[in-house]
Amino acid sequence: MQCEQVRESLPSKTERAVELATEKGASNWLTVIPIKEMNFNLNKREFRDAIKLRYDWEIADLPAMCTCGDLFTVDHAMVCRHGGLIIQRHNEIRDLEAEMLRMVCTDVETEPVLQHWGRAK
Ligand SMILES: [Zn+2]
Repeated sequence: MQCEQVRESLPSKTERAVELATEKGASNWLTVIPIKEMNFNLNKREFRDAIKLRYDWEIADLPAMCTCGDLFTVDHAMVCRHGGLIIQRHNEIRDLEAEMLRMVCTDVETEPVLQHWGRAK
């Protein structure tokens, strides 16, 4: 009952963050052995940011503006096409799938890296 009262007193965004943090499996990353070869390690800043995202705490040293020209917020960082998170999430899934396919197939390749074809400087 007291837990429910605390949750109801939170701003809706924080309440959602707490709800997600308490879901089954949501804390597994905190108990994983930080094996570097398996990319299970986080540096100090990554760990700090992950904790702050988990509880919807403010990250004080974010830049004010994104490279795309929009205001930079945590939410914007998750969806900005100029940032690396969208392609990073895509590549992690692509690489995992390719790794698993290589266990059963012989000719698995991932897409080649293309040079950025933006305006020449
Ligand atoms: Zn942006």
